Amino acid sequence: MTITLPPKVEAAEWIRCERCGEIVYGKRFARELGVCPGCALHTRITARERVEQLFDDGSTVVIEAPATPEDPLGFTDSKPYPDRLREAREKSGLDEAVLCVRGTIDGHGIVAAVMDFRFMGGSLGSAVGARIVAAAEAALVERVPFLLVTASGGARMQEGTLSLMQMATTSQALAELDEAGILTIALITDPTYGGVAASFATLPDVLLAEPGAHVGFAGPRVIEQTIGQELPEGFQTAEFLRARGLIDDVRPRAELRSTLARLCSLQAAGAAGELFQPERSPAGEPSRLLFQPDRLPARSGWTAVQLARHADRPTTLDYARYMLEEFVELHGDRLGGDCPAIVGGLGRLDGRPIVLIGHQKGHTTKERVERNFGMPTPAGYRKAARLMRLAAKLGCPILTLVDTPGAYPGLEAEENGQAWAIAENLRLMSTLPVPVVAVVTGEGGSGGALALGVANRVLALSNAVYSVISPEGCASILWKSPSAAPRAAEALRLDARELLRHRIVDGVIPEPDEGAHTDPALTARLLAAAVAEAFGDLAIHEPRKLIADRRQRFRQFGSGSR
Ligand SMILES: [Zn+2]
Repeated sequence: MTITLPPKVEAAEWIRCERCGEIVYGKRFARELGVCPGCALHTRITARERVEQLFDDGSTVVIEAPATPEDPLGFTDSKPYPDRLREAREKSGLDEAVLCVRGTIDGHGIVAAVMDFRFMGGSLGSAVGARIVAAAEAALVERVPFLLVTASGGARMQEGTLSLMQMATTSQALAELDEAGILTIALITDPTYGGVAASFATLPDVLLAEPGAHVGFAGPRVIEQTIGQELPEGFQTAEFLRARGLIDDVRPRAELRSTLARLCSLQAAGAAGELFQPERSPAGEPSRLLFQPDRLPARSGWTAVQLARHADRPTTLDYARYMLEEFVELHGDRLGGDCPAIVGGLGRLDGRPIVLIGHQKGHTTKERVERNFGMPTPAGYRKAARLMRLAAKLGCPILTLVDTPGAYPGLEAEENGQAWAIAENLRLMSTLPVPVVAVVTGEGGSGGALALGVANRVLALSNAVYSVISPEGCASILWKSPSAAPRAAEALRLDARELLRHRIVDGVIPEPDEGAHTDPALTARLLAAAVAEAFGDLAIHEPRKLIADRRQRFRQFGSGSR
């Protein structure tokens, strides 16, 4: 049984890039972490090199696993399986295709299972499965994040159906970490296929991939033979999957250690019991939440609509930058789409981990077009749902920021189930066992806004609006003329003062004098203070009470008691 890292492979003096042909001095190539300085090709590296690149020096200890039968089927092809194992061991210095270690990244504890493609193509046999399960159990006992670095052609044929079963055993191990609230992360490297892709490579909470990594279930040759067509350029690459919402992000090798450190720090902060304490006053601005409608200036609803739509108003990503430390944006609904009109991720507010989710517009015309003017597709609502489930798993409070003219009324949005996606979020939010605070920061447009708005506390910025329909839409239908929009805005009672009067919102955050757009940094501090105060109030409640109170809050609408 290995209890130390495998021996280091000495780099050749000169290395020729297989893609661009550049010839690189071996030591420089190692300094570049095995990435070609000419074309940024991320070459395959060994498990030991990976561990050394990611972990703090000298922090790692190899995790032992129970022994498994070496050749359960007595398998022989052109040579006996035991001979292949022996050769792989000699070549790699590893005893199996995965190296499991515990250690620290930037001081944060973590357990990792790192695959090595040199060892029989990183194939998944019983010993690999047993090691991954043992490593997951170590993460469970130590309550530290579990990282899987994948590189595999798939199942190990030499172990037949026993190999296939490892997909189930490893998936079960990840399910246990889900039940225990332990953060799981995959770093998908080139190539990751078959049984590994269809189990522990794609199940973790956060899926990162290296640039150009190929990932899929069936290999490209099998697909081409089956469909009788050539595959498009970039098919099954990390970038291709990121665009389809199947992975969270593609990160260059040089950024992996810092990204993992940020993610690990979030689990560490949560584990240390650093939850929001009501008596602890947030750093920076004191909260200036207003609860009486009369304290807010009376003005026309239409004026509020114009201010709420101001192009320079801070967006969700602006607030993330101003308010949160260690923010890591996560992407994709894991079903086939990543909607740019809803963003979200993990970060720390006043040192404590939260999940932030919000509509995203943009400031320039280009960005507003790219973000579809903040009008989400079903993929956006499904991404939000995925992040809410992650928050529930990790026990993180959720902050949602609402700023949308409405859900996107488009062809594809309907084909993909816009109504279904919104409805699902309304139900999901009524079951979340963590504190949820929603802030209407700009336009609260109809069902597309409420799909992020079923919270324990609902706040609004003083120039925000919240409405069942846009004033223009209402004017067209009821006044038969869009020019009646100002009258409709008045009638809909959609500004902060009216929202507070009707208790649609529980409190209003006053904006700087001329509006949030004139001082985004101060607006963000005021928002952060109000949100921290609300989380502080909610932190004392048990999950069951949080759910019951949230349901009660919404049940009162229309029952006459509100
Ligand atoms: Zn190159």
